Parts: sequence; C-alpha cells; structure tokens
Amino acid sequence: MIDFSLTEEQVQLQELARRFAKEEIIPKAAHHDQTGEFPREIVKKAWDIGLMNTHVPAEYGGAGLGVLDGCIITEEFAYGCTGIATAMEANGLAAAPVIVAGNEEQKKEFLGRLTREPLFAAYCVTEPGAGSDVVGIRTSAKRVGGDYVINGEKMWITNASVANWYFLLAYTDASAKHRGMSGFIVPRETSGVTVGKKEKNLGQRASDTRGITFEDVKIPAAYLLGKEGDGFKIAMSAFDHTRPTVSSGAVGLARRAMDEAIKYATERSTFGQPIARYQAVSFMIADMAKDVEAARLLVWQAAWAIDNGRRNTKLASFAKAFAADVAMRVATDAVQVFGGYGYSQEYPVEKLMRDAKIYQIYEGTSQIQRLIIAKEIFDRPAR
Ligand SMILES: Cc1cc2nc3c(=O)[nH]c(=O)nc-3n(C[C@H](O)[C@H](O)[C@H](O)COP(=O)(O)OP(=O)(O)OC[C@H]3O[C@@H](n4cnc5c(N)ncnc54)[C@H](O)[C@@H]3O)c2cc1C
Repeated sequence: MIDFSLTEEQVQLQELARRFAKEEIIPKAAHHDQTGEFPREIVKKAWDIGLMNTHVPAEYGGAGLGVLDGCIITEEFAYGCTGIATAMEANGLAAAPVIVAGNEEQKKEFLGRLTREPLFAAYCVTEPGAGSDVVGIRTSAKRVGGDYVINGEKMWITNASVANWYFLLAYTDASAKHRGMSGFIVPRETSGVTVGKKEKNLGQRASDTRGITFEDVKIPAAYLLGKEGDGFKIAMSAFDHTRPTVSSGAVGLARRAMDEAIKYATERSTFGQPIARYQAVSFMIADMAKDVEAARLLVWQAAWAIDNGRRNTKLASFAKAFAADVAMRVATDAVQVFGGYGYSQEYPVEKLMRDAKIYQIYEGTSQIQRLIIAKEIFDRPAR
C-alpha cells in the first residue's frame, strides 16, 4: 500500500521544527555564516524542546523516533540554515555506529551523554590522504593489555572541537584491508587528542570542521564497537541511517532557494512586468518545484525503507545523489533569478549556493553515490 500522508505526530513535529527554524535559525543564519561562530545557543534550545538526538532509542533517553521523522525535522532546520542544521545533524552521524553496533554499556554511557546534556559527538573516518577511499586510512589501534593505543590523523571532522566523544575508524590489522578495520569510541578528554584549527570553508560556515590528531591515545578495550574487523561494516552501515537525513537537508535548502526565487520573481519587474511572467524565469521555477518534490520522495522512500527494516543502501544513494544535485542546481538557478542581486551578500541566495555545494561532497561524494548505485545494480540484481 502506498500512503504519502504524514501521521498526526509527524505533522506536529514538522510544525514544531518549522516554527523553530523561523524563530531561532533564520534570524541568526547570516550572523553565523559571517562570523563562523558555532551555534551552541541554538542547538541548546533545540535540545531543550526535544528536537536533538531524536533517533536515540527511548531506553537511552532519546525520543526513539525513526529516520523519516528525522528527515522531516532536518528539512525544516536546513530551510533555515544548513550550516546550523549540519552542526545539529553531526550528532546523528556519530551516534549511528553506536546505535547499530554498540553493546548495552556503550549505548548507556555514550548515547546517554547526548541525551542527559546538550553535548556533541563527531564521526571520524576521513583522513588527509583518504576520503572516498576509506581503505586508504592509516590510523591504527594497537591492543596493549586491556587497552587500545590509537595513532593517526583525521581530517574534515564536523563538530571536532565541540564533541564530547568521537566515533573513530582505525586499523587493528592493516594487512586485512577493510576486514582489518575496527570502530572505537574515543572520549574527547583522553590524553593525546589534539584538535586542529577551524577550516575556512566555502559554505556551511556555522559548522565546525577541523582535523584531529590522535597521538598514543589510550582507551579501554571496552570502547571497541562490535568485534575487531567489524569497523568498516559499522562505519558504512551507519550511512544507511544518515544519508536520508543528510539528503533531507539538501531538500530543505532547495526548497528555501525556490521560495526565495518565487518571491523575488513576483517582486522584480523588467520591461514593465514582473520577471515571473517570462517563461524563461517561470520554467526555471517550475523545474525547481518538480525537482524539490522528486528529491523529497526519494528521501522519504529511503527513510521509510530503513524504518521498516528493509535494506536501503541503493535507495539512500539515490536520495543522496539526487537531492545533492537538486540543491546545487536550484540554488544556482535561484541566484540566476535574482540577477546581480543574487551575487550579493545582501540577499540570501548567494549563501544558499555556497552552502549547497557540500551536499555533493560529504557523506560520500556524488560520484561515490553513483558507484554504490552501480554496484548495487550489478552485484545485487533485483529478483
Ligand atoms: C565540510 C566537510 C565536512 C565533513 N565532515 C566529515 C565528518 O564529520 N567525518 C568524516 O569522516 N568526514 C567528513 N568529511 C569528509 C568527506 O566525507 C570527504 O571529503 C569526502 O568523502 C570526499 O573525500 P576526499 O575529500 O578525500 O576526496 P577524494 O576521495 O580524494 O575525491 C576527490 C574527487 O575524486 C572523486 N573520486 C574519488 N574516487 C572515485 C572513484 N572511485 N570513482 C569516481 N570518482 C572518484 C570524488 O568523487 C571527488 O570528486 C567532511 C568534508 C567536508 C568538506
């Protein structure tokens, strides 16, 4: 059966998140974009009203909501500002491996930290020499008695300086390639953890992106997630949960760019009439509306699948690749609709265009999404 309607609870959630974006995020988005200041106060307010860590199961203090619920919230936050939304969402990415593979103690301790206090976590996989090619990471974790000793360098880590703990991927046996990788939880306060300077990024400047160095970082063996060798699978399966949510951020950004373009096209006149009257402009906006809708449907389908216990790897990559490209295209066209004003910081669309680009890069580039889709098509043909 197909039913496109949201439940009453989901509609309420959407309204709450929409109001939050309107009152708390939109008014401060330009400030955080210009200063790069981390939006701690905004996140705290979202945490206070239960809009953070919604995916954490209720037994660990979370709301126990599904991925689709998270997508509904994230689209609204991203409509307000994707930099701020990413700062909030990074917790979801860090928590996903713990939800997927953590034991009872690990879940109680580390998911509990996020729900007891408005704290942050970060997902540390990428390194200076390896992003798409995860097998190319060099960070190692060596078992020494009852501990692991971690050495390595991570790069481009969202929430790096504000995180209370990290999910970290490292080799316990480099000769076994991806089967020799293991996932760990590393508390931020552990000696040997050094966080680098904030990156000066093109967009999403409210988000805190940095490198982190791990030098002889000793953690108890109890912080290993699953078994040695499970790390690659854990790190990748987390994406089945988080890619729909990230994609919903791209949808929110595209919807915002479209709304700004519609408003401007009705207000701006040339040659004696609003530019919306020109087919060249109104067709650009028609394409925006069609693409935003299609992207949301793909996102919701991928979210629905994982919420219903179905394998969604291909669907999540459909959603991520499509929504990211839509965000980039719609934001670029919105700048076009604004003409010269679109190029100015006085209007919101130049920020949207800068912010959109990262959706084609993080959580797997658009090329890697297509690689996954092709692999799923050829290696797992539909029966
Ligand atoms: C703002 C920001 C936040 C981020 N947050 C995090 C985070 O929180 N945690 C984390 O672990 N990482 C994070 N990342 C890292 C991000 O996931 C990587 O940048 C991304 O996976 C790409 O890796 P790379 O930058 O090393 O590019 P590369 O892997 O070097 O790729 C370069 C180019 O080559 C293409 N390419 C590579 N391999 C192939 C292939 N086999 N086929 C076709 N094309 C290919 C890519 O698509 C890309 O266009 C973040 C990055 C940024 C910029």
